[in-house]
Amino acid sequence: MEKNIQFSNKDRKEVLQKLSKEKFDVLVIGGGITGAGIALDAASRGLKVALVEKGDFASGTSSKSTKLIHGGLRYLKQFDFWLVKEVGSERAIVHKLAPHLVLPEKMLLPLIENGSYGKWLTSIGLKVYDILAQVSGDDKRKMLEKKEALKLEPLLPKKILKGAGYYAEYRTDDARLTLENIKTSLNYGATVLNYVEVTDFRYKDDLVAGVEVKDDVSGEKFTINASYVISAAGPWVDKLRSVNNSLKGKRLHLTKGVHLVFPHEKLPVKQSVYFDVPDGRMMFAIPRGKITYVGTTDTDYLEDKDQVTTDLADAIYLISAVNNMFPGINLEMEDIESSWAGLRPLIHEEGKSASELSRKDEIFTSETGLISMAGGKLTGYRKMAERVVNQVAQKLKEEEGREIPECKTETISLCGSDFKKFKHVKQYIKEIHERIAGEGFGHYQAWYLVTNYGKQTEQILDNYQNIKAKDPEERMILAELEFGLSFECILTPLDFFIRRTGRLYFDIHSVRQFSEPVLEYFRKHFNSDKKQIDAWREELE
Ligand SMILES: Cc1cc2nc3c(=O)[nH]c(=O)nc-3n(C[C@H](O)[C@H](O)[C@H](O)COP(=O)(O)OP(=O)(O)OC[C@H]3O[C@@H](n4cnc5c(N)ncnc54)[C@H](O)[C@@H]3O)c2cc1C
Repeated sequence: MEKNIQFSNKDRKEVLQKLSKEKFDVLVIGGGITGAGIALDAASRGLKVALVEKGDFASGTSSKSTKLIHGGLRYLKQFDFWLVKEVGSERAIVHKLAPHLVLPEKMLLPLIENGSYGKWLTSIGLKVYDILAQVSGDDKRKMLEKKEALKLEPLLPKKILKGAGYYAEYRTDDARLTLENIKTSLNYGATVLNYVEVTDFRYKDDLVAGVEVKDDVSGEKFTINASYVISAAGPWVDKLRSVNNSLKGKRLHLTKGVHLVFPHEKLPVKQSVYFDVPDGRMMFAIPRGKITYVGTTDTDYLEDKDQVTTDLADAIYLISAVNNMFPGINLEMEDIESSWAGLRPLIHEEGKSASELSRKDEIFTSETGLISMAGGKLTGYRKMAERVVNQVAQKLKEEEGREIPECKTETISLCGSDFKKFKHVKQYIKEIHERIAGEGFGHYQAWYLVTNYGKQTEQILDNYQNIKAKDPEERMILAELEFGLSFECILTPLDFFIRRTGRLYFDIHSVRQFSEPVLEYFRKHFNSDKKQIDAWREELE
């Protein structure tokens, strides 16, 4: 595994200077999974790349998904065979690039009386899914009898259950997948920074030749020069197209998706379930360590893109759907431990409702040369990046006679991974558990460290030796924070608790318990004043 490159907000000034002084082949707007994938693809083909993100990396949609690397079974119903084939095949590739972060996850699809899918249709559907995604061996779909399905998931509704489909998907942490792509792009020379917002474009001979930006920390404005600008701004793509005066033709159609988190003991599913909702939609219930999360909703969204929240109606919809499918469970509002709400940046299609819209990605190039990428899925990020960088490579060939090599991201392991197979990840979790058990840590902590950081766990355990704190858990969380401050460009406590560690969603008690020592560590690290610390505390609360 390559050694991590320093990636710290303490070096902010130097990085800002580099962005303002140098000229780049490609400037990417947006540090979600789309932008991160593009930065890695372009940098690894030898292009000089810069990426700026207006908030934190993955703070848009890319930390708010269902966190599945999946083929999208339901798109078969929409006859979107091309999409299922592409994202279905990508699953195994993305798993191979980071087996500790993209974990195999078997999915159970219960067949119930009057449900969306009958036995025959499910069997055929899953078979087509397997064929399109070239699934082989043990991962091939199985059709289960009622008894077998209940053995796997005793909470299913006995009275109306008729059997189940059982098939293979993968689960990830979307924000960490984004971040590891960004960190890997640094190994190929990309220049990347968060909290820098693109406010306008710079033109030369009527063509986009760079961007005007504002540094969110100092408030300073400056220009970044680049031959090509790719907007991977997700839900904000049309806003930037407006700034570029090119918002015509196809437009985005934003739909909101909400997930709720419950303590695992309140919704103790043994395994992931993809189930029917009475209104004809489908939903996931996914167990993950100490919690189970459920989602999602899919409703049209026209409000503020920077303030997307979970409403009462979203929560009622999700809770009723769960209580309907798992009759022994009686979830209530008070059981909600955490939640997240995100926007799908889909392409508008006349007359289609939110859930009918295709998830296919598209590239728009304006008359002035702004390239925008929208739509798509987390799962397909690598192929999306390949498509848009191919277009830039073609232009560089035509305009400058440069030969740009083909995409090679299929062979670039992401930071944190030097596991050949998933069984090596499991062995490593066991090894880490043995190493930290003496300090009172259980299997959960070892599993959490490895599935979050992979082999970078070594650096966190090194930090652990140097951190002075009595409580081992506090010491470990500060060891993680030290790693994130040095190698993951953390600027605020929310960057740490949401997008570097997922703790706000998956272990909210640890946030409550350790927010004060974490704030104190920030104070020392950035020499922050009381006003700043109070503001961060309020944000956390
Ligand atoms: C509820 C839900 C569930 C989903 N579940 C799945 C799933 O399980 N599997 C799957 O494959 N896909 C899933 N998706 C789809 C997937 O999450 C998205 O396709 C993907 O995250 C979009 O990434 P992005 O990078 O295009 O957008 P974003 O992640 O939103 O990134 C765009 C970034 O651009 C930045 N930006 C915007 N304007 C500017 C500017 N002016 N200057 C600088 N930066 C700017 C934003 O801050 C943002 O971080 C789901 C989506 C939703 C909403």
